[in-house]
Amino acid sequence: MNIENTLVCPSCKGQLSQAVDNLSCSGCGKHYARIKNVWNLRTVLSDPATSWDAEVFDQAYEKSDGGFKDREMYASSFGIPQFADKYLESEKESRIKSFICERKPSYVLDLGCSSGWLSFEMSECSPSTVFYGIDISTYRVNLFQEQITARNCQQKMHAASANGENLPFRDDFFDIVVMDEVIEHLQEPGSTLREIKRVLKPDGYLIITTPSRFMTSFWKLAALVPTFLKRLFKGESLTRKKTIKPYENILPCSILKKLFEDAGFEIQKWDRVIFLPHESYLQHIPVPLLKIMLLKARLTGKIPFLKFLGLHHFILLGKPSKEIICI
Ligand SMILES: [Zn+2]
Repeated sequence: MNIENTLVCPSCKGQLSQAVDNLSCSGCGKHYARIKNVWNLRTVLSDPATSWDAEVFDQAYEKSDGGFKDREMYASSFGIPQFADKYLESEKESRIKSFICERKPSYVLDLGCSSGWLSFEMSECSPSTVFYGIDISTYRVNLFQEQITARNCQQKMHAASANGENLPFRDDFFDIVVMDEVIEHLQEPGSTLREIKRVLKPDGYLIITTPSRFMTSFWKLAALVPTFLKRLFKGESLTRKKTIKPYENILPCSILKKLFEDAGFEIQKWDRVIFLPHESYLQHIPVPLLKIMLLKARLTGKIPFLKFLGLHHFILLGKPSKEIICI
């Protein structure tokens, strides 16, 4: 199936018809053009109230990327040793892949798919599934589209640029939606969750991973002194370099829980994973020390009352099969 046959108008959910170089909506009359090789179905490009800006995502990724990177390439470009990356993967992405593997869903949405590396990995363990990836960054979804063409998997992989708040898909379409480290970058997480619930089939699942606010702050604080010393010894400037940073708002547990409940999801599992500092710090830790930290991390993950030390949340939400109507 071509992606054009699946997409609906993100604004009014009307039928789209394809002309030579655009998709036009029979409902509201809006037109959507391509940016390079992907359809641009974005409805919001910036939000002054929150400083959220799609262009900043594109600029930051284009500057730091330099091409398609799968998980291994990404880890080595950050100087993360392979043994540490294996642990990170086993804690988060392997769990997502196992879930997909067990269920063999028909349709999966990878929301905030970046360059699509996770979709490719999920596809390996569930070849019959059709994957749709959307991202706000046209730069990254174009990298995804290039890989789809290069690997000749146009029948089971589709990429487009869109906002999570206005999804260009019809109701009850997906079996599973995955948001791997995405919710903290959204302009409106509440609207996005309601849209995800709309496009999920009854009894469908939403898998979310996102950093823990408490542990992210802790490791940032803990890294202050070593970073200062490193810069001092290397003769680097002690003030922070100015870099383009895409929008990030790590939400506390209480807010996340309320957002899930308000959107009408059932919380089926809420786990804490990864008992190490953020991956960007790992390259600075000497290998013998990192190996000891890894042993400690594996042990900590097994002790229930220490679970709060996990750096990321791993959350499984379910869309109830029947709506509960309050009278
Ligand atoms: Zn429309």
